Amino acid sequence: MNEIIRIEGLTMAFGKHEVLRGIDLAVTKGESIAIIGPSGSGKSTLLRCLNRLEQPSGGRTLFEGKEVLPATDMNALRARMGMVFQHFNLFPHMTALGNVIEAPIHVLKIPRAQAVEEGRALLGRVGLADRADAYPSQLSGGQKQRVAIARCLAMKPQLMLLDEVTSALDPELVGEVLAVIRDLAEQGMTMVLVTHEMGFARDVADRVIFMDAGLIVEEGTPAEIFSNPRSDRLRLFLRAVL
Ligand code: ADP
Ligand code: MG
Repeated sequence: MNEIIRIEGLTMAFGKHEVLRGIDLAVTKGESIAIIGPSGSGKSTLLRCLNRLEQPSGGRTLFEGKEVLPATDMNALRARMGMVFQHFNLFPHMTALGNVIEAPIHVLKIPRAQAVEEGRALLGRVGLADRADAYPSQLSGGQKQRVAIARCLAMKPQLMLLDEVTSALDPELVGEVLAVIRDLAEQGMTMVLVTHEMGFARDVADRVIFMDAGLIVEEGTPAEIFSNPRSDRLRLFLRAVL
């Protein structure tokens, strides 16, 4: 089964406001997909519908080949899709290591000693082996975001969803976080990332999706999207952001 998640005709409305107006998307194992588009186009809502932090209004979702239905265990589903947010959302009263081992111990029921060992290895993987005992308040934004990525990896997700994970960072800290994500992509992690970093999308993504007003307007390889945009809307967007 190479397809991790597939959505067909996904719609989402907040009251009368249709935020997603029929999205079709399939994510294959090992793929990294970048979603770009103007503010308010529905990018975050799409990620949140993928892992069911929001309930879509319509359409079908298949996760690992099985249709997601009202009876599906949404917590189990969510545990298989890690999400990293713009604002880290670390537990402030726990150390970096404490943040990383919390869910493996309490959700996956992994023995504490094993969780600690894996947690330290993950902090090493994001370049924070020596900061395991630091509290979030003692870390820079870039370090906090790398802890958040390690915390996500600790759940061994099938799919990672990253929503503008560098947007809240000072410019000089963006690179260290992007480097970690680039490593993950190169090591075969499947990911869907919403980003304003066009250079990064171009370098790292296998496929780029341009959304506007609740629809996928264009999708293609980075070369197709950035060097050969077909729609006026994408051309205008790229002119504004590049
Ligand atoms: P993006 O991430 O592309 O900036 P969002 O998915 O956050 O866009 O939002 C798309 C639209 O949905 C926006 O118009 C936003 O105001 C609206 N929206 C998002 N979340 C909610 C919510 N919880 N309630 C009402 N409207 C929302
Ligand atoms: Mg957003």
